[in-house]
Amino acid sequence: MDFALSDTERAIRDTARDFIAREVMPLEQELLRRERAHRPGLEPDELRELQRKARAFGFWGLATPEEYGGMDLPAVTQSLIWTEIGRSFVPFRFGGEADNILFRANDEQKQEFLVPTIEGERRSCFAITEPGAGSDAANIKLSARRDGGDWVLTGEKTFITGGNEADFAIVIAVTDREKGARNGGATAFLVDRSMGWRSEFIQTMGEGGPAALVFDEVRVPERNVLGEPGQGFALAMEWIGKGRYTIPSHAVGIAERALRMAIEYATTRQTFGRPIGDNQAIQWMIADSETELEAARWLILRAAWTVDQGMDPRHASSMAKLYGAGMVNRVVDRVLQIHGGMGYTRELPVERWYRQVRLYRIFEGTDEMQRLIIARDLLRGYTRLGGHLA
Ligand SMILES: Cc1cc2nc3c(=O)[nH]c(=O)nc-3n(C[C@H](O)[C@H](O)[C@H](O)COP(=O)(O)OP(=O)(O)OC[C@H]3O[C@@H](n4cnc5c(N)ncnc54)[C@H](O)[C@@H]3O)c2cc1C
Repeated sequence: MDFALSDTERAIRDTARDFIAREVMPLEQELLRRERAHRPGLEPDELRELQRKARAFGFWGLATPEEYGGMDLPAVTQSLIWTEIGRSFVPFRFGGEADNILFRANDEQKQEFLVPTIEGERRSCFAITEPGAGSDAANIKLSARRDGGDWVLTGEKTFITGGNEADFAIVIAVTDREKGARNGGATAFLVDRSMGWRSEFIQTMGEGGPAALVFDEVRVPERNVLGEPGQGFALAMEWIGKGRYTIPSHAVGIAERALRMAIEYATTRQTFGRPIGDNQAIQWMIADSETELEAARWLILRAAWTVDQGMDPRHASSMAKLYGAGMVNRVVDRVLQIHGGMGYTRELPVERWYRQVRLYRIFEGTDEMQRLIIARDLLRGYTRLGGHLA
């Protein structure tokens, strides 16, 4: 058994690490200052400029096939890079990416939606959640009915990341109520904002925020169906699958950085004449955090490896998402505690992480949904105890 990175993995990981340290981390203090003044921490133009620099560095389209100018990296390498990105709280990500399911588009749609999204000229959002359907995604109601050669979409989506900024939405709509979304009754549509949907910003405990999207008889031509009619739910599950290892990979980066801060603080902050790190109470928080971090790291890399092997990654990914999201919440909570009152201020990023990572237990499948999947796989015999070594 070999737990080491290959030379290539290490080289790519280290280059990403250098880039984040050199170009992204220097923006952190300014970001905190702006957010304290209730301004966006990073403007879209600044993000694009960073992405342009990264492109010159060779980082462009981690998951994007080479024919579209991307790096087409294995999932394990992508996971390692997401961990590097997570080390900085600047909301940076490498450019050249597009929603995985846009690669299912036909040639014409690829030119209209996929290529400009990769190039950063157009912005997408992905919309399945509705006010009455989150975890129970198959219960969506937003309907698409045929009218001549068009489809007419009516209904509402909610909590859509990037929904305020996007100029097109990938919308999962019910096209056959009898069949139901899960059994071929839902279809994915590529819907330009100019076709008539509107968005409303939703305030959350995090910085920035998702949007509600309102569709009031929005007319969409047949050529904007993504994939085949009836494939919408399967495409939605494919979209969500990607986040199940990238989200916890990001969480590992956050947890490592936060824990490093806590270790530094524990060795320098003095109470009763000695560093707080001399106390077992503090040491246990550090030890538990490191142990959970290490456990999460291997669960996540195993999930990514499963993707690279062409094996069904769903069980491993659910465990990675469940444990990784819980781990980062526990670690950041302990790191805040170790910092005492300072941890609670907006001078440090700790309270910001505390708010940010709470979402990781909710979006792209809540903790409870991951547990449901893991237990169901075992109870119905879809997977064996012991994983791929069984
Ligand atoms: C900031 C943010 C960004 C998001 N971005 C997007 C996006 O880009 N696109 C998109 O489509 N959606 C997005 N979402 C939606 C997100 O995926 C949903 O919020 C999530 O799936 C949970 O759905 P819900 O909020 O309706 O909660 P509910 O499904 O109503 O669940 C409420 C609670 O009940 C629990 N629960 C539900 N059913 C069961 C059960 N059977 N057994 C046990 N417990 C259960 C849940 O786990 C949860 O704790 C985003 C959400 C947020 C907050």
